[in-house]
Amino acid sequence: MLTAPVLANDNIIPVSKETKDIATHLRDKAIDDDSAYEILKSLTTEVGARHPGTPGEKAGIEWAINKLKALGFDKVYTEDVNMNGWLRGVETAEILLPSYQKLIITALGRSKSTPEGGLEADIVHFKTYADLEKALDGSLKGKIAFISNRMQQLKDGGGYGPANIARSKGHELAAQKGAEALLIRSIGTDDHRNPHTGATNVAMGYTAVPAVALSNPDADQLVRLMDYGHSPKIRLNIQTKDLGPIVTKNVIGEITGRELPNEVVVIGGHLDSWDLGTGAVDDGAGVAIAMATGAFIKNNAKLRPRRTIRVILWGAEELGLIGARAYAKARQEDGTIANHVIGSESDFGAGPIYGLQSSNNVSPNAIHVVDTMAGLMGKLGVSRRSGDTSGGPDMIPLAALGVPALNLMQDGTDYFDLHHTPDDTFDKVNPEHMRQNLAVWTVFTFIAAEWPGSFK
Ligand SMILES: [Zn+2]
Repeated sequence: MLTAPVLANDNIIPVSKETKDIATHLRDKAIDDDSAYEILKSLTTEVGARHPGTPGEKAGIEWAINKLKALGFDKVYTEDVNMNGWLRGVETAEILLPSYQKLIITALGRSKSTPEGGLEADIVHFKTYADLEKALDGSLKGKIAFISNRMQQLKDGGGYGPANIARSKGHELAAQKGAEALLIRSIGTDDHRNPHTGATNVAMGYTAVPAVALSNPDADQLVRLMDYGHSPKIRLNIQTKDLGPIVTKNVIGEITGRELPNEVVVIGGHLDSWDLGTGAVDDGAGVAIAMATGAFIKNNAKLRPRRTIRVILWGAEELGLIGARAYAKARQEDGTIANHVIGSESDFGAGPIYGLQSSNNVSPNAIHVVDTMAGLMGKLGVSRRSGDTSGGPDMIPLAALGVPALNLMQDGTDYFDLHHTPDDTFDKVNPEHMRQNLAVWTVFTFIAAEWPGSFK
């Protein structure tokens, strides 16, 4: 009798009791299942870093194909993605004056090289990107511009965007001001001597000037030196390589739907990683969670879901969502974008999920389904959250084409301690959190693939 008002709207299709029962059974079984953790262990140990254009990336693609097959996916295939490659080489920096000290640095993505042997220059300090904007054009001739802004540590990662402009666009601004190079405080929240690399807003070729991140303690050291009234002189040697055109791949595995095989629920993560660590939290965890979810549902649901579950392991996310853009463009061109029912990517580490958010393009007639998912996830510590979402970085191109998206919000408090550093390794991942992720993803994916209504 409580369902009467719901049934009064012909457009609202309820989630059946059977669907809820199966999702509940899967949830309670997945919470004891270590398959996501084991997949991540294999990827980060047997492959390691997966930067485009390296043997590690090729090994990662082979690993993914073989693992999806071994997990029992019905279809496993790859799609070529064209891009321009870039490799890190020598990277050293020292303070020469007022006293000799080594600095811990790393080149940002697509940084150009310094002259061979390095360059020597005084540094000029700017607290923020906005402060560097105020400098006169051409005024930093013969200097290195140093931006010291520190990103804020927040559970939802909200400090990343505002701080990140120094990394993405600082090189162009530094060049405009006449500087020889750009030095930034790492976009990261740890206090270890690990620099954080990351993309710049350059699609091919090189940054406008050599662009480098300092570890947080090294950035603090430079700021203190200047507080004492010194003007530090630095030697910076960066040697990098533009690989020109290369081919990477999106790797895709499917659990074929029993009734509507052409309709797909997209889940995934990005297979590439930065080269400094082994890509455990960024984004081996997401890869492992998505692969484990598809396999877990196939092997444990008493009913094969109505729609196809498509696990996409996107390539070259770190250099600008390159695999994700290629995937979406191809579906727009061949018209199959219309078959994408809903999607979500796991790309915010391996922390526990605490919230479920739906994008504004989820139909009002499907909101109750998301509420039902959140209700079943409540036992796992997840609650329904408001706000719009793209459903993860690699979902952005699909969401822009109207594909509804959900965000399974992870606690990312320590994510930016590890992100893009040598410390992004398997030992940082908690197996209990991986089990919780698997259970939450299983509830979402099963219901999305089984509920017969439209999310659009
Ligand atoms: Zn990532």
